[in-house]
Amino acid sequence: METKTVAVCMWSLGQGGLPVGTEEALTLGRKVASATGARLHLLVLGSLPDDCVETAGRFGVDDVDQIEDAALEAFSPDAYVEALAGYCQQESPALMIFSQAADTRVVAPRLAGRVGAGVVMNAVDVALGEGGGLQATASAYGGDTQMVYELSGAASYVVALSANALLPEPAEGGATQPGCRSIQVDLTGTNERIRVIEQARTEGPRLEDADIIVSGGRGLGGPENYKLIEQLAEALGGLAGASRPIVDEGWVDSSQQVGLTGKITRPALYLAAGISGASQHMAGCSAAKTIVAINKDPDAAIFRYASYGLVGDCLEILPELIRAARQ
Ligand SMILES: Cc1cc2nc3c(=O)[nH]c(=O)nc-3n(C[C@H](O)[C@H](O)[C@H](O)COP(=O)(O)OP(=O)(O)OC[C@H]3O[C@@H](n4cnc5c(N)ncnc54)[C@H](O)[C@@H]3O)c2cc1C
Repeated sequence: METKTVAVCMWSLGQGGLPVGTEEALTLGRKVASATGARLHLLVLGSLPDDCVETAGRFGVDDVDQIEDAALEAFSPDAYVEALAGYCQQESPALMIFSQAADTRVVAPRLAGRVGAGVVMNAVDVALGEGGGLQATASAYGGDTQMVYELSGAASYVVALSANALLPEPAEGGATQPGCRSIQVDLTGTNERIRVIEQARTEGPRLEDADIIVSGGRGLGGPENYKLIEQLAEALGGLAGASRPIVDEGWVDSSQQVGLTGKITRPALYLAAGISGASQHMAGCSAAKTIVAINKDPDAAIFRYASYGLVGDCLEILPELIRAARQ
């Protein structure tokens, strides 16, 4: 694969700023572009967020490309795939990098199928391998292990970078002054097969950005005890999270689920009460600086990840912690 252009792809859907994960994707894009001598593009579908060009420059982007069309104003997978495929046809990027989120999970594999590109989801890195070709590292089996894929054999690749896989690092050589280019793609014939009938609740602070998270699991015993998690989170100035079973059982909203199929977080403090520490849960919190676990089973897997462990009944320990935190 000859790498002449690396394109980081995003859309902000009028949220005011660049979506979370853009800076991480740009950091990876800059690293690959520098290693291969490629140009780094930032492709924006829809309107350009205010901070877009300045941020792109800080992360060493050479060109900011934009596709603007009424069909891209709201998230619509068919139109987005069509626009991206049109971009690939015109610009032939060797590597398209997405920040993995609910919407890019839908778009990235479909784009790859559409343009005949290889695709790697859940990526945590892309780097030059020993043979001089690119390799993508991705987490697999719920974060239990990592796979390394050689990016060879296809003309182009689509890579979705997992949330919090790396820390954003502005370009080493100082900021660039990227030029802005408008890319024309005809979307008039796009037939949208999926219709958004209701937007998910997104207001309020996000678990992904929280510095302190207190999470509860099935060990809480029942939905009535989840208030202990909320009270401790509030007393510590943090947010309340949850393991998947208590979301599935309807104790809390799915927006609070931490883990592989929930939110990927990187707080300074993650306090887990009544959570066993299954790999799928830990995939969403193991990047926390400090993990504190409360579990009545001294052999619970979560203690392998925890900096501090409290062996005991969380229904007794949580009220004590709430009292102490409120003082
Ligand atoms: C494809 C896939 C994706 C998944 N994605 C996710 C995900 O995103 N997030 C997620 O969380 N899970 C996910 N899971 C589920 C995951 O495998 C586990 O089943 C889940 O994390 C377990 O939740 P839990 O720890 O709350 O419950 P349990 O495994 O039932 O553990 C409860 C823990 O509480 C302890 N306990 C019990 N009573 C008390 C008490 N009174 N005081 C203190 N401790 C007590 C027990 O010792 C036990 O360790 C996924 C699974 C699959 C297959």
